Amino acid sequence: MRVSRLMLVTLRDDPAEAEISSHKLLLRGGYIRRISSGIYAYLPLLWRVLQKIEGIVRQEMNATGALETLLPQLQPAELWQRSGRWDGYTAGEGIMFHLQDRQERQLGLGPTHEEVITALAADLLRSYRQLPVSLYQIQTKFRDEIRPRFGLMRGREFIMKDAYSFHASEESLKQSYAAMDLAYRRIFARCGLRAVAVEADSGAIGGSASQEFMVTAEAGEDLILTSEDGRYGANQERAVSLPPPAVELQQSPCQELATPGLASIEDLCRVHGFDPTQIVKVLVLVARFAAAPAQPLLVCLRGDQQLNEVKLANAVSARAAEGAGALLEITPISNELLAAEGLAPLPFGSLGPQLDDGVLAGARSWQQRFLRLADTTATDLTGFVCGACRSDQHLVGASWEALLPQPDQRPQSLDLRAAQPGDRCLHAPEQTLLAARGIEVGHIFQLGRKYSQALEATFTNEAGSEEALWMGCYGIGVSRLAQAAVEQHHDEQGICWPTSIAPFEVIVVPANIEDPLQQQLAESLLTELLDAGVDALLDDRSERAGVKFKDADLIGIPWRVVVGRDAANGQIELVQRQGRSTEALAASALLEVLLPRLTTERCGLLGEPA
Ligand code: ATP
Ligand code: MG
Repeated sequence: MRVSRLMLVTLRDDPAEAEISSHKLLLRGGYIRRISSGIYAYLPLLWRVLQKIEGIVRQEMNATGALETLLPQLQPAELWQRSGRWDGYTAGEGIMFHLQDRQERQLGLGPTHEEVITALAADLLRSYRQLPVSLYQIQTKFRDEIRPRFGLMRGREFIMKDAYSFHASEESLKQSYAAMDLAYRRIFARCGLRAVAVEADSGAIGGSASQEFMVTAEAGEDLILTSEDGRYGANQERAVSLPPPAVELQQSPCQELATPGLASIEDLCRVHGFDPTQIVKVLVLVARFAAAPAQPLLVCLRGDQQLNEVKLANAVSARAAEGAGALLEITPISNELLAAEGLAPLPFGSLGPQLDDGVLAGARSWQQRFLRLADTTATDLTGFVCGACRSDQHLVGASWEALLPQPDQRPQSLDLRAAQPGDRCLHAPEQTLLAARGIEVGHIFQLGRKYSQALEATFTNEAGSEEALWMGCYGIGVSRLAQAAVEQHHDEQGICWPTSIAPFEVIVVPANIEDPLQQQLAESLLTELLDAGVDALLDDRSERAGVKFKDADLIGIPWRVVVGRDAANGQIELVQRQGRSTEALAASALLEVLLPRLTTERCGLLGEPA
């Protein structure tokens, strides 16, 4: 391949639309162009990268015994209604693009394929003898993300590898899950990525165990918490830890305290000398469902703790009434919202767990009782400070028994707090949690039987009776992975692709293409490299050498062969992109020097020839 034929358009300056390095570099290096919000053209250079990643993914998926397939992107609403996900994915903050066909039938553009594949399984899988079986596809997915950003990191149209496995037993599901875990580790290592596996929330996909694979990088959207000994790692959405101990409150009996103007915990502690661990704070929120009236929530946390919104959403979903449909969103209750419901304002800043359901009486569209939940750090307190439910008044020395004498008035106690870096670990309290940022490139789930039951995908077991299939699902963000690789491998001058996924392995750059000697030697080296099976590119443009070197650095080809003045003596220069070390050598020795290095590098971080 020749650069002159590559339609290469590089940009000298950082494009205004990009915030993080990898996005800037992919734009500047002529890898992608934005067509619309979250929608990108993958230009020929990037397409080569994507195909290399897909090649690695395919090899490793095939090695697990999974079968490649291709499922439709247009999916009938009916399947999603049967799984109970249509409303959740289309209403509120739902991310499914959906449309109507000429017969006024509803369709969605596939954000994921559990429904389609389970319907197929219901049709095709009849007997335990056909199990286990895994299918995978590499395909464009569509998600109307609330905040598309960072280029390919969070697109509205992106490439995903998704796989689904079907089993006769949970045991067999666990085996395939473990095999996928291994395959994923090999895939990321072969792509040259440092990735860690962490416990994850299962989110809208559902199911029990799930694990995410995170490429560690400062620009990552996810916060991951890991123990120093590496034995525990979790997405913060899911992470658990031991809270710091509370400072005991020496105050009884309970007394009122006038607190004018002290609406924040910080102010309350500063003025009255409390410790935040002595305070119970109260959040009032409202949860909206697809098919039920909104549910007001009263959530208690210890004053030093932060709410984990994912844990709260899971707790609220799990407690939703039968037929309430999907949980669409949870938003804070404000006095404006209360007014819209025809309710009186609340004394925010002075709320306490004893806030009476009476404040909801007469609500237009909400349930008229709070769902009361509390983090265990709050329910574990025996005496505490909280709002008195009257403006500028607090209670000091309050207790759950005194505030809410009836046990059924008290909140349900559960883990709702966000684990924080520095917290002690559950598995070993002398260990503390460390924080790192990560880019989620893969996610594997043990789905269990949620979809097979909803879509009646059953098989006949060995004993001859009908049972729902056990399922797993396994995703990799192929296009996100390409950009994550840039985020992990770049420097001031540009991208430093890992060789295994670089668009080309070697670029031959004649310093002066008008010099016939240089041109001839460059051409013959290109041929030699190609004949040896090397992905080689020739920069045949009549640009100044400096321009060509800059572009080569920017687009990040791992090896540069410079043919300059010494071409007359058969001498060339070999420059490694990563670290930019340079060595002079005889043109005749190029293959001998380069091929063994490429062979090793093509394995990524696996350390063995692939
Ligand atoms: P996220 O938490 O980042 O929104 P997700 O949990 O919704 O991701 P999954 O449904 O598990 O993602 O999808 C499988 C993989 O697809 C993810 O691990 C990620 O690598 C990739 N992916 C998900 N959403 C996007 C997107 N909008 N753009 C690019 N890749 C994505
Ligand atoms: Mg995920």
